[in-house]
Amino acid sequence: MKSASLSNQMTLLVLRDANQPVKQVRVSKPLIVAVPMVALLSISGLIVSMHINSNRTITQLEGQLQQQSIQFEAVVTDRDEAIQRLQNEVVTLSGQSKGMMDRMEKVVELEAELQEFINKYGTQGDLSNLSALSLDDTDSLGIGGEYIAVHDNEIDDLAKETGDDFREMNAMLDEMEKNIPVTLIRATQTQYSLTGNPSEWPTPSKRLTSSFGYRTDPFTGKAAFHSGIDISGKIGDPVYAAGAGQVLTTDRDSSHGKYIVIQHPDGLESWYLHLSDIDVSAGDIVTKGQTIGKVGNTGRSTGSHLHFEIVKQNKPIDPMPFLKQ
Ligand SMILES: [Zn+2]
Repeated sequence: MKSASLSNQMTLLVLRDANQPVKQVRVSKPLIVAVPMVALLSISGLIVSMHINSNRTITQLEGQLQQQSIQFEAVVTDRDEAIQRLQNEVVTLSGQSKGMMDRMEKVVELEAELQEFINKYGTQGDLSNLSALSLDDTDSLGIGGEYIAVHDNEIDDLAKETGDDFREMNAMLDEMEKNIPVTLIRATQTQYSLTGNPSEWPTPSKRLTSSFGYRTDPFTGKAAFHSGIDISGKIGDPVYAAGAGQVLTTDRDSSHGKYIVIQHPDGLESWYLHLSDIDVSAGDIVTKGQTIGKVGNTGRSTGSHLHFEIVKQNKPIDPMPFLKQ
């Protein structure tokens, strides 16, 4: 490029290719000055605008950063709250667990009582399912396995499930605590009505000398009603309670001699007559087979023997069907 000077104008020669003609461009002087000025101003403007832009970007970035920081703080606060909540859950659950263990122990005690009862009076029912409640620590043996991280919400769910399980188990224990004593009372009643049945032979001797019903009276020789059975025996032989019950009467008179009356369930009484000795008192609770007195020859009797009688609703009945049980 080549420039030529005229008065207020400049000529620019544009050389392109060797084979092509030279091009002349006439340009005014102020324009020559103006172009770089415009260029300079444009660049300055660009720089200023870039500066403004970068400031704006920095401000935006700062804003975003602040927002993120706030969000992060919120997340941290949430975490702290979650941890606090979980700790509270754990404390509550461990409290419930302690209460549950106490109640389990109580149920186990009741079960032991029931078991003792069964051991004493035979195994009529199957209570083996109760033994599943026995507390043992076999679960604590052989723990291991892969570590799998647990998320907060999973722990939350777990805590909730465990809480639900505890509530369910508590309800179950409520039911059992309520039922076992009732079962025990029923079992005692059943046992009493079974052992209360006057079915035990009342003295060691098995020699029956007179049966229940009409017979010839040994004193008058006339027909008379015999209200019980006579079992011969030596004076001083033990007399046993035929069934469990309560002693109603111990007395002596000219007809019965020394005698005992025991009350049993179902309105039954057993009578023991002509005794030489009485070992119990009215109001005593006696067990089946317990020695209550001694064979004698007191009252209207021709020799040492035991007169045994069963009375049902004030009426003597044949004792043999009972004794054959
Ligand atoms: Zn008799």
